Formats: sequence, structure tokens, C-alpha cells
Amino acid sequence: MMQQAESSHSEKSSSVRASHDHPYAGRSVSLATKHGKEGQIAPAFAQTLQMRVEVPAGIDTDVLGTFTGEIPRTGSPMETVYAKARLGMQISGSPLGLANEGSFGPHPAMPLMLADTELLLFIDDERGIKVQEVLVSEKVVAAQCTARTFADLGTFLEGAHFPSHALIVRPEGLFQPDLIFKAVTDPQRLEELITLCAAESPAGLAHIESDLRAHMNPTRRRVLSQLAEQLAQRLARLCPHCATPGWGIVDHEAGLPCSWCGQPTELVRALIFGCPACTSQERHGRPDGLQSADAGQCPFCNP
Ligand SMILES: [Zn+2]
Ligand SMILES: [Zn+2]
Repeated sequence: MMQQAESSHSEKSSSVRASHDHPYAGRSVSLATKHGKEGQIAPAFAQTLQMRVEVPAGIDTDVLGTFTGEIPRTGSPMETVYAKARLGMQISGSPLGLANEGSFGPHPAMPLMLADTELLLFIDDERGIKVQEVLVSEKVVAAQCTARTFADLGTFLEGAHFPSHALIVRPEGLFQPDLIFKAVTDPQRLEELITLCAAESPAGLAHIESDLRAHMNPTRRRVLSQLAEQLAQRLARLCPHCATPGWGIVDHEAGLPCSWCGQPTELVRALIFGCPACTSQERHGRPDGLQSADAGQCPFCNP
């Protein structure tokens, strides 16, 4: 069933706070994290949904792969985040689970830029649903360089936001788990590790990079807080047809017409909202209310 509706900007962009009779109010959800992500995720779930986020004791998400590669990630980010959430649910015995997975790579829309793509997945086994939100940010600090000595670093430390953002040091061209030093925030220790790693490296260089684990990277933590708010808002919205939580954007429609010639452009014309449980959908206009595209975006007027 495809329900069609148009709605105004104000209706859609207002933040949602679930009422006390929301199905998740008062419930707890397990969050699979080893790195303190509850600090970023729990507040939004408490405020928006009145849910308690609980981290299962002794959970080690590193078994599913590490950022630094000692244990390689075998699946896609979506597979990894799913496995993490399942691990937390298994340990806690909770039918509700949450997990996050971040990956760094080329920005999906601007391939020359490095971006952090964060996934946050919610699983509800009672309703048999999965609800996810994604946030892409180019603001997360992720720097790397090689250096023979501490003095070689030059302006690198400033760009890497050291020491508020921790670093990882290892020998360039050598991958040995006992020679990967994480969570480095002390300048003197950094200097010692560069000397040590350069001496062990076949190239005579230390490899220095941002420690991207959430508890070591404040800019990544800010992205996570925003993503948690996004997912909590989505879960607060119930499907207008079957009342399942998680009503939100499932697709978009390109083809915003050119303001000069009226031909469709590549720009988004409408957002498709859907339900994680049933097939009902609604079509909404752009949140910014834009009805036509600038001729500069038109393949006919500005080929
Ligand atoms: Zn045109
Ligand atoms: Zn539904």
C-alpha cells in the first residue's frame, strides 16, 4: 500500500518526544560497546524515549574486529553492527539491542574528502524489526603521517587536535600487534614511541595516526550524540497505520524540476517515509520547501 501525502516543513522537522504510553517508555535496551559509547547514546534515549541504555558487563566488541586491524573486520559495516547488537542482546538476554559502527573512507558525495560514516542500529525481537540511522560527517578528526623523529611532526599535532584527540603509533611498514601503541596523549610518551617505532621499522619511520575509537576522539563522540538523537527521534515516531515505532525516511525521489525549463534535475524532489514493520509509505516534499532547482543544477540549461 502506497499512501501519498504532502506535509509542510513545520510538521515534519519539529522534534518528537515520545509520550509515556509509547511502547518503549520505561524499557531498557542493551548497548554493545567496549568504549563507553553509552555516554553519547544514553541521554537521547532517556530524554526522547524514556528508555534506559544498559551495557552488558564484560562485553568485548573487539572480537568482531578492531579499528587498528589486529583483528580484521570480516563483514560490511552493516554486518558488523548487526553482529555487535546481537552479541549484546545475547549477553544481556534483552530482546532490545543497540550497536554502533563507524567507518572512515571517501565521502559518499565528495570522494576527495575523508568522511566518518556512523551507523546506529536498533533491533527489537518482540516486534521483529530493525531500525537504523546513518550519519556522515567530514568533521571528525582523522589525521595520519610518518616521522623519523618527534621534531618531524611539525604542524601535524595541531591538525590532529593532539592531545585532546589521542594518537596511535606503530612502525611504518611493519604490522606487529605488540608494536601498536594506542591511546597516546602524552607528548613525552609520543616522542619515546616515535623513536622506538622508527627503530623497529624497515623504513626507519614511525607511523602516527588518530585513535578513532570513540572514547579517544571527542569529535567522533559529538557525531555519535547527534546520531543517537536522530535514531531516538525516529523510534519515537509510530507508524500511522500499524503503530510500530521507527517511522522515518526510507527512500528519496530525485527529479526536482528546473526553475527555467521545468525538466527534472538530479536533486531530491521528495522524501519517502516508511515503517519498519508494514509496507505503508508516505511521500513528503523537501523539508526546506524547495519546489524547483536553480538552472545551474539543470543538465539541459547548464549541461
Ligand atoms: Zn533547465
Ligand atoms: Zn506500519
